[in-house]
Amino acid sequence: MLKQKRWYDYLWIVSVVYLILGFFNILFAWFGLLCFMIPLLISIINGNKAYCNKYCGRGQLFELLGGRFGLSRKAAPPKFLRSKWFRYGFLTFFMTMFILMLYTTYLVFGGMSLKEVVTLLWVFKLPWHWAGVPGVTPWVAQFAFGFYSVMLTSTVLGLITMMLFKPRSWCVYCPMGTMTQGICQIKHRKDDLDGRKSKANC
Ligand code: SF4
Repeated sequence: MLKQKRWYDYLWIVSVVYLILGFFNILFAWFGLLCFMIPLLISIINGNKAYCNKYCGRGQLFELLGGRFGLSRKAAPPKFLRSKWFRYGFLTFFMTMFILMLYTTYLVFGGMSLKEVVTLLWVFKLPWHWAGVPGVTPWVAQFAFGFYSVMLTSTVLGLITMMLFKPRSWCVYCPMGTMTQGICQIKHRKDDLDGRKSKANC
């Protein structure tokens, strides 16, 4: 029997619209902060991975493209991708690059000139000046270019992983997934120590 669709089953549309809007107006990139804050808040408050399981548009998009549209080889991801050292190593790398992006924003705040580029995979600088908005405070625009770079890079990595392995193989080492899982496990352990029965779904 077909499972009835809920509103959150269509959040993949939000992910697609987000990427398209950032192509025309970089300031929309700021909305990506929600994809950082909501999963963390859900895992901190509820101690579960409801965001990943239900509300993540990006995960749904990979499922759709790789599953229904057949763009995935559907091969099992290599074991190292699941290993703790790789997942936490990638999270550390990802966060380091994120902090460097914030530092660049800070430099622009301090007077350095704005760079209207999107950096793909932390290396390739793509011209993106058409998406700039005249008159906007330079550091606000710089953060948007930097944040869009983070979102585009993780999407491209996710698409490559989706094509090579199972549709949602990106989720195996996604930094947000690693963080929310870590938070969830810490909460779970705390509940156990407190003698409460944990309902966490980590
Ligand atoms: S692991 Fe990352 S991409 Fe996958 S569902 Fe969770 S937040 Fe989304």
